[in-house]
Amino acid sequence: MEYNIAVIKGDGIGPEVVDSAIEILKFIGDKYGHRFIFNEALAGGAAYDKYKDPLPMETINICKNSKAVLFGAVGGPKWDSLPREKRPEKAILGLRKELGLYANLRPGILFEPLKDASPLRLDIIKDGFDILVIRELTGGIYFGEKGFKDTDMGKAAYDIEIYSEKEVERIARIAFQLAMKRNKKITSVDKSNVLESSRLWRRIVDKVSKDYPDIHLDHMYVDNASMQVIRDPSSFDIILTSNMFGDILSDEISILTGSIGILPSASLGKGNRGIYEPIHGSAPDIAGKNKANPIAAILSAAMMLDYSLGLKEEALAIENAVNKALRENYRTMDIAKKGETAIGTKKMTNIIKGNI
Ligand code: NAD
Repeated sequence: MEYNIAVIKGDGIGPEVVDSAIEILKFIGDKYGHRFIFNEALAGGAAYDKYKDPLPMETINICKNSKAVLFGAVGGPKWDSLPREKRPEKAILGLRKELGLYANLRPGILFEPLKDASPLRLDIIKDGFDILVIRELTGGIYFGEKGFKDTDMGKAAYDIEIYSEKEVERIARIAFQLAMKRNKKITSVDKSNVLESSRLWRRIVDKVSKDYPDIHLDHMYVDNASMQVIRDPSSFDIILTSNMFGDILSDEISILTGSIGILPSASLGKGNRGIYEPIHGSAPDIAGKNKANPIAAILSAAMMLDYSLGLKEEALAIENAVNKALRENYRTMDIAKKGETAIGTKKMTNIIKGNI
């Protein structure tokens, strides 16, 4: 089979880690008899430098004509003083909007060999954990009406948290469909003891759950959830939540896994097309030094094979190869312990390739 994949390497370490992911994908293609056609496009600082636009129309078109988008990271000090609409980060939000992607999937997996890198105690970690945070991406307080008004306490600012039934229903359906492929367990996180929008959220999630009688659904208040993920992370499987709560909880969970250099993410909408990217940024401090951990980008490519291309076996082959490299104690500098020798981006990529 032939698959068109849009590739946006971005800035900083983006090009290095995306090159690693492409190398792995090419190897997978040869091994399993697929042809991946990589269509490169510019976004972020690199696009601003060339077109004075962080998300050119040409890039949007290439992404719309591809099965999936493999994204590195954008941004860096060089572009920090640009006005907001020209900043590299605008490219990610713009692209998600253009492609109609409203679900952000962020796996928080603690790989067994990296137990020591977690800030949690070993008796809490037990055998590790595998949490999938499904965060609503295009609604809620980040996109609600905002502004200023005069009050008798002086000038006030407001941001409105707003969710429609349809917005909640479509993200809930994604969560329930994915739960069927995992451990059939969802924890929906809200603040329905205080917020009207959360009460609507809970009512709709309950309604959708009626179509999935095999899935065990719990509801949890966000303040409690933020404690429970630290007290007993392995009690969670899928966490389904709103834009802001998901933003905060997914960062909290990612740090429990030891390094941001290993965690992938996906943004999905209706249909199979998605954007796949590491959760880390462009890490300007280590860019161009062959020091970046390529695992997050490589696992993002694995998520792409699974979710957008339906190549489950191939995705699993990559995940197993990463796991093996970690079990064999290969470490880039972000996950190496004091005294351990760290290997570079290229060597880690080669080891993973060899394991496939
Ligand atoms: P960052 O994730 O780039 O870096 C934070 C720290 O983690 C740094 O010390 C960095 O060296 C390290 N790190 C990150 N990825 C690593 C990897 N793969 N291997 C080893 N170490 C790694 O976050 P930041 O420093 O806050 O942001 C830098 C730039 O990236 C900013 O311009 C920011 O706006 C941008 N950013 C972009 C995205 C994105 O493109 N999705 C996300 C976050 C930040």
